[in-house]
Amino acid sequence: MVGTVLAIDGGTPVRRLLLPYGRQTIDDEDIAAVVAVLRSDWLTTGPKVAEFEAAFTSAIGVSHAVAVNSGTAALHAAVFALGIQPGDEVIVTPMTFAASANAVLYQGGTPVFVDVDPDTLLIDPGTVRRAVTERTRAIIAVDYAGQPCDYDTLYAIAREHNLRIIDDACHAIGGSLNGRPVGTLADLSTFSFHPVKHITSGEGGVITTDDADLAARMRRFRNHGIDSDHHQRSKTGSWFYEMHDLGFNYRLTDFQSALCTSQLARLDGWVARRQAIARQYDAAFAQMPAVRPLGYRAGAVHAHHLYVIQLELERLCVDREAIYAALRAEGIGVNVHYIPVYLHPYYREQGYQTGLCPLAEAAYQRILSLPVFPAMSDADVQDVIDAVGKVTSFYAA
Ligand SMILES: *Cc1c(COP(=O)(O)O)cnc(C)c1O
Repeated sequence: MVGTVLAIDGGTPVRRLLLPYGRQTIDDEDIAAVVAVLRSDWLTTGPKVAEFEAAFTSAIGVSHAVAVNSGTAALHAAVFALGIQPGDEVIVTPMTFAASANAVLYQGGTPVFVDVDPDTLLIDPGTVRRAVTERTRAIIAVDYAGQPCDYDTLYAIAREHNLRIIDDACHAIGGSLNGRPVGTLADLSTFSFHPVKHITSGEGGVITTDDADLAARMRRFRNHGIDSDHHQRSKTGSWFYEMHDLGFNYRLTDFQSALCTSQLARLDGWVARRQAIARQYDAAFAQMPAVRPLGYRAGAVHAHHLYVIQLELERLCVDREAIYAALRAEGIGVNVHYIPVYLHPYYREQGYQTGLCPLAEAAYQRILSLPVFPAMSDADVQDVIDAVGKVTSFYAA
């Protein structure tokens, strides 16, 4: 039995081996799919990329999917496709990974950070409306933790001011809003296949859209801005190509595409397992006064990339850092998502200051991400619940 002495004070930890906050699942079929490509003629820019894109469009129910080599490249391609340039403002949530805002800077645009809803930590449409200026061109919404934002209200604002919306959906594959899948909720939606995300290709990403012109622009952009790729030229036997835009090499390889296609087949079961874990957490934390899970939006199906709690610091005698350290000592790999983007030194050097988004900054002091990934056993889930209970009751105010 677990003692009442915390592991950080020399007591017995809830678990000996650290449970990570996220982890990939790779099976023999995934490995076979990669090995088959390694034995084939095409390691990159071959048939597996198009096969993956076709599988992704049908899994999401969207017209176009453009595969790239990271979620960051997906965001950059999306911002490029919308024609963002110096002088343009793009409204962004601060409660995200830096790449969501960096993509605007890559194209010379200006990220304008607006505050979040304190219950869901999703971009607050009211703050978006107040931030719109003559120069605003787009909004980058992030489906934080895996829950879709309020796209109905965001689109009402976008239509009034002729703005486009990018959904950074890196957390939310498999989620939906009022029956419409994530990946179809915005002009452009971006996904990541980093190993902590729902499905992985090692590194990888994709952008979905129903707009054929935007898709074509992004296909060129991932290939140096060139109008045809190696596979297309080998089919026609032609050497000729032209560069039309200043693009990048953001191509996904064929073996990564094969891995991602194989992973995609298991997505539904994995999302269901994440949701089941979240329900166990919700039930347990309803009994713990110092622990407040994020709020759920009506009509939203949450994909639970993250399970985030906000600590009720008023009910604790220590801060988030102490709870973090105590949980790590208990063998629970908690994490913090995220430091508000504009508080990073690079952004501060651009002139962004503390106080810009007070609700995001206050939430940042309270948040912890708990382990959630499909391969977690029920015993793993119980360990997390036991450790959170042990630590927060020990430090009760
Ligand atoms: C993971 C992630 C990214 C970046 O994806 P990479 O594949 O690591 O480049 C961007 N935005 C969000 C919200 C993410 O979670």
